[in-house]
Amino acid sequence: MNKNPYEVLGVARDASDADIKKAYHKLVMKYHPDRNPGDKNAEEKFKEVNNAFDILKDPQKRAAYDRFGDAAFAGGNASGANPFGAGGNPFGNGAFHFNMGGGAGMEDILREAMRGFGFDGFGGATRGASGRRTGRDLLDEVVIDLRDAYFGTTHTVKFSSNVQCEKCHGYGTADGRPAPECSRCHGTGYVQTNRGFFAMETPCPDCNGLGHKIDKKCSECDGAGTVRKSRTLDVKIPAGVEDGTRLRLAGQGEAGQNGAPAGDFYLDVRVRPDKRFERDGADLITRADVPFTTLALGGEIEIETIDDKKLSVKVPAGTQVGEKLRVRGHGMPTRRAGNFGDLYIDINMPVPTKLTEKQKKLLNEFAGTKSAKKGWF
Ligand SMILES: [Zn+2]
Ligand SMILES: [Zn+2]
Repeated sequence: MNKNPYEVLGVARDASDADIKKAYHKLVMKYHPDRNPGDKNAEEKFKEVNNAFDILKDPQKRAAYDRFGDAAFAGGNASGANPFGAGGNPFGNGAFHFNMGGGAGMEDILREAMRGFGFDGFGGATRGASGRRTGRDLLDEVVIDLRDAYFGTTHTVKFSSNVQCEKCHGYGTADGRPAPECSRCHGTGYVQTNRGFFAMETPCPDCNGLGHKIDKKCSECDGAGTVRKSRTLDVKIPAGVEDGTRLRLAGQGEAGQNGAPAGDFYLDVRVRPDKRFERDGADLITRADVPFTTLALGGEIEIETIDDKKLSVKVPAGTQVGEKLRVRGHGMPTRRAGNFGDLYIDINMPVPTKLTEKQKKLLNEFAGTKSAKKGWF
């Protein structure tokens, strides 16, 4: 059972998207497995936070939750439509996974909600002729460092999912050919029944909603058309990827039923804030401590770039604290190949606290000069 996502994130029912995102970011950093190795409690919290965010970040899911509560999402589990079963996590790496259902439009959510209430009455995008159902989409999340976002990286996901049975090409039949259409439902998998005012569609009792009847089952998958398989996906994360990017691997989700197309695999990429560099779109901002003398007289400072290079930067005479020096082309890669944002150096000036007698004398002399007395600015 999921916890109230608003409570999990500590936000109000009418919280804005920005507030929800902010609360999520704070909590996901706090409970991230990398920061809490071996801490079961943190792991649990991490999952809760991700599940809550998954609902609240999506306007349709949020609306469904507001209307139906947990039933909007529990339906899949209750009916067994969720191939992972309650609490079954195919990835097992502590990251979160929301089973979105093929398409995951409002109609799907409503259908899931109705299942939760004991109905199964909506036709829809996931059910075509002959009980062909597109496979479910899968979703995973990865948190990467800014440096990895700069260079691009590969995320390897290990999980198990249903894949099409090779022996029967997904048809579940011994001969590997499509099974004959069910004569009662004419292949739709559903029959109409009347309940009071409502004409309802219910799964066809002859074929159990499959739309076809298999005489001789495939020995490999026992007629299911799919088999459970451990899988490994190498997901390429492009250089310059932004926080919150959702990557899609078409056809890499769960296998479809009865030879229908597989769902998609999605990877949500989060970029961990960096200690040295703040990101502003394609630009980066770093902070540099510069001595008063260099700022006043002009000079050079050495800074480190995100790609671990040392860079010598000219500081013009009279540079003020809080001014930003721009170094072109040392920001993040942009979508245009070979194009980079800029690096801004935020100038800071530490005031020396341990002065030698000689330094004090020199500063006193400076303070005594005519222009310094009037103020040198
Ligand atoms: Zn039937
Ligand atoms: Zn098979």
